[in-house]
Amino acid sequence: MPTDWTRALAVVAHPDDLEYGCAAAIADWTDGGRKVVYLLATRGEAGIDSIAPDECGPLREAEQRASAAVVGVSEVEFLDYHDGAIEYGLGLRRDIAAAIRRHRPELIVTLNHRDTWGGAQGGGYWNTPDHKAVGRAVLDAAGDAGNRWIFPELIEQGLQPWNGVRWVAVAGSSTPTHAADAGPGLERSVKSLLEHKAYIEVLTDQDPEEYVRTFLTGNAQQAAARFGGRPAVPFEVFPR
Ligand SMILES: [Zn+2]
Repeated sequence: MPTDWTRALAVVAHPDDLEYGCAAAIADWTDGGRKVVYLLATRGEAGIDSIAPDECGPLREAEQRASAAVVGVSEVEFLDYHDGAIEYGLGLRRDIAAAIRRHRPELIVTLNHRDTWGGAQGGGYWNTPDHKAVGRAVLDAAGDAGNRWIFPELIEQGLQPWNGVRWVAVAGSSTPTHAADAGPGLERSVKSLLEHKAYIEVLTDQDPEEYVRTFLTGNAQQAAARFGGRPAVPFEVFPR
């Protein structure tokens, strides 16, 4: 995984998207003095069947801020798209490009933009429309951010082009090319995911901590086979 960078922007659709794996890498990065900012397209207000969106949105926002703080991330922004109804398009690309220009990251992290989870040879679980729309828009916006003519309204808002994005790292890809060491941040990634209390409570009848630890440790161990036996967070890295 590239390490010669100082600022990263992690852009995903929902609260908890970064906590299902990435947070272990992020904890290690912020430990090393790097700055990571989170940008979420929604507040995840449609994520809990038993809690109506009006109540759920603020609750999940608070949980997301708490879970970011556990891994050293103090800036968490929300774009206010509707959970479950994000459409890929120019508006989404523009909003993400604007954030890239504001934060000027060298590394962008996002989540699987492809149709399925797993199943590089076919099969696997169907991905959600929100993840696909946001992931694709992030990969595109990394280029849009550097082009002064694509969204001229951003220049009028004082957002000058930023051509410094060197990599977009896609988590949850079935065809990873790189991996970050999950070891040093693994325990904090467990705590970070546990901050999504309301969400996890309805997700499992198991003890939350046991569920989260088993899940995250298992995933990191699974990736270890391709990372010299060390627990890893795999990414598909698109260089720019
Ligand atoms: Zn999600």
